[in-house]
Amino acid sequence: MGEIILETRKLTKIYNLERENEFEALHGIDFKVEAGEFICVMGPSGSGKTTFINNISTVDFPTKGKVFIDGVEIHTMSANEMGRFRSRNLGFVFQEFNLLDTHTMYENIAMPLALAKTKKEEIGRRVEEMARQMSIEGILRKYPGECSGGQRQRGAICRALIMKPKIIIADEPTGNLDRANSNEFLAIIGRLNREQGVTVIMVTHDPLIASYSSRLVYIKDGLIERNMERGRMSQKEYFDKITEINASESRGFLQ
Ligand code: ADP
Repeated sequence: MGEIILETRKLTKIYNLERENEFEALHGIDFKVEAGEFICVMGPSGSGKTTFINNISTVDFPTKGKVFIDGVEIHTMSANEMGRFRSRNLGFVFQEFNLLDTHTMYENIAMPLALAKTKKEEIGRRVEEMARQMSIEGILRKYPGECSGGQRQRGAICRALIMKPKIIIADEPTGNLDRANSNEFLAIIGRLNREQGVTVIMVTHDPLIASYSSRLVYIKDGLIERNMERGRMSQKEYFDKITEINASESRGFLQ
């Protein structure tokens, strides 16, 4: 096995702990990710995918169990340390892009650098360079509301990558995009994964998108029910297997 970049031990999440509506959403998950993997997380709605992603990425805290990123147990850090750690190591891409409408695309992309107190000239250099790589240098002075969905998405990717994170965390990143923009997103993420060894962990419902990953993690009822490596499968074979797994799980809900 290669270098382990992320690990969970008995990761358990209980919502509304000790209240009447207490609910255990994750039941003690043991999970390891090697540096450079491209993992896609699938599973029925309500199975715990978002809870899982949030708990492995410092967005939320497990009720029990441990999470290690790059050998560091993240939940023992102070809030300040965690903020710094998160901005250095993790890049987030969400379905809604979460760009601030009151800030220009430049300001949105520059935000993590500004928070890290990077010098103004350095910020300018890096934002321009990143925007060039994503072909959005022409819209940096625009506000998100003045940009197309694809441009906003590229802006969100720029912001996620501006700190050169080791891991990209994406929750349904293509949920609001048409096929052309989804494909482009995959091409960008795939290139980063292959050429720069960035680890990707992505939730998706779309088997076609999942077929670009190197491993499928299927979550059901708060547990990892299946774990499938692409290995030597062609993309077509892998896609067919992914579709099969999703279909056989859905069949269980038929009357
Ligand atoms: P998925 O992403 O697979 O759709 P979620 O992780 O969002 O699933 O939710 C898993 C389960 O946890 C669901 O039953 C959901 O209702 C419950 N849940 C999610 N967030 C909360 C919360 N903040 N409070 C209480 N229950 C929650």
